[in-house]
Amino acid sequence: METVKDVMATSHVHPERIRGRRVAVLGLARTGGAVSRMLLSAGAEVLASDRSDTDRLQQNAEQLRDLGAWVELGRHTEDVLARVDFVVPSPGIAADHPVLVKARTKGVPVFSEIEVAFWLHAGDVLAVTGTNGKTTTATLLHHMLKQDGLQARLAGNVGLAYSAIAAGLPEPVVLEVSSYQLEYTETFRPIVSGILNITPDHLERHGDLAHYAAAKFRIVENQCDGDTVVLNADCPTSRELRPPPGVHTIYFSTTQFLPEGVYCDHGNLVYRTPAGDGVITSLDRIRLPGAHNLANAAAAAAMALAYGAAPESIAGALAVFEGVPHRLEPLGTRRGRRVINDSKATNVGAMCVALDAVAGPIVLLVGGRAKGDDPADALSLLSQKARAVIAYGEAREHFQRAWQSRIQVDLTDDLRAAVERAFAISRPGDAVLLSPACASFDQFNDFEERGDRFREYVDEFAG
Ligand code: ADP
Repeated sequence: METVKDVMATSHVHPERIRGRRVAVLGLARTGGAVSRMLLSAGAEVLASDRSDTDRLQQNAEQLRDLGAWVELGRHTEDVLARVDFVVPSPGIAADHPVLVKARTKGVPVFSEIEVAFWLHAGDVLAVTGTNGKTTTATLLHHMLKQDGLQARLAGNVGLAYSAIAAGLPEPVVLEVSSYQLEYTETFRPIVSGILNITPDHLERHGDLAHYAAAKFRIVENQCDGDTVVLNADCPTSRELRPPPGVHTIYFSTTQFLPEGVYCDHGNLVYRTPAGDGVITSLDRIRLPGAHNLANAAAAAAMALAYGAAPESIAGALAVFEGVPHRLEPLGTRRGRRVINDSKATNVGAMCVALDAVAGPIVLLVGGRAKGDDPADALSLLSQKARAVIAYGEAREHFQRAWQSRIQVDLTDDLRAAVERAFAISRPGDAVLLSPACASFDQFNDFEERGDRFREYVDEFAG
């Protein structure tokens, strides 16, 4: 007898789950806007709402109204729930939000954006999740598949929302997915999935590590016979995952030899699978800097191999891929200093990853709005690698208090003055590293704007 999974394995495309349905979309930023447009063009009636009411949202609302949606800003009218077939929340809306609680008590199904986009996507999905490294790994995997000649697309938290490209698309999509998106899936089934690592983060939303891990593990829930999950043998939480029967597991590691998987051996990244084994590339041909990025490279290689990419294509991508902007992004050598933009490092842990990856001596720029983590955790790394620290913005004295007994900490008001000071006190051969260990919101809209400004100030003082 055919099971639900057999049917899904042959066709996961279900436009009838959308056509003629009435759908509430909660949240109208990038993802909510994209999924509303997709639902409207697939024949759904859309009732969209956002609790905020900004100029940007008003523009989105206007466009959606022109396409036939009913839109409200500044509130979520609850009786909308009585009139819809299902709800699609934006990833930013927590499960305990009153509207979602209400939906569940009323028995209205809740599906995430990736679930409904999957109903219209005819191609394969390769999905990457984990606490850290998702954007880097998904982007690198996309490069590997392109290098192998596939017309693959990249979506999710990086670039376009999945629902902006999914409808009718026959090509494979490499998707970066967060645990929020995985919370409300039902049939979403990547042919290859990867869980990079699971470490405490976002626990304010998921409760404890077990719940957070369970949300990430949902990525394998609908995987079927012949699908693959890639797991990190160096991560105690995720390596214990047992996928459904028939799903292959490929492990990766940067610290140990594996009986089967992708790992480092005598200066090479190698693979050993039931289908064969060999060298992918020598480690010194991998452009991405840092031990954490070697793990990302190994994970992407394992996923690409599982999807049938040739080791030469994987090696070709690793030889040219330098990373994603704002994550240890090299900005070149200026006045003899190596300048690096790591604006994405919004907490002390991420800053330590950068200090570890960048060769010293380092003049480090930190600052912004502190996250409540402890800068003292970085003291031993700082005293090994840094020549000096320049702290700017709201949190500058917070860093000065924590570090000044061991290292020179200069204070400036803003990032521009910090860059000027960095070029004054660094010496040729040093690295000037922006790895701010803080949120950007005291002086910028987001980490991208902060990194872009950093580049402009570097041009101004060392162009
Ligand atoms: P994500 O999309 O999961 O936020 P990114 O690829 O954007 O991940 O990287 C964000 C930051 O996380 C990087 O600047 C780096 O400091 C850190 N990071 C990246 N990959 C890893 C990894 N494999 N392990 C630990 N930290 C990592």
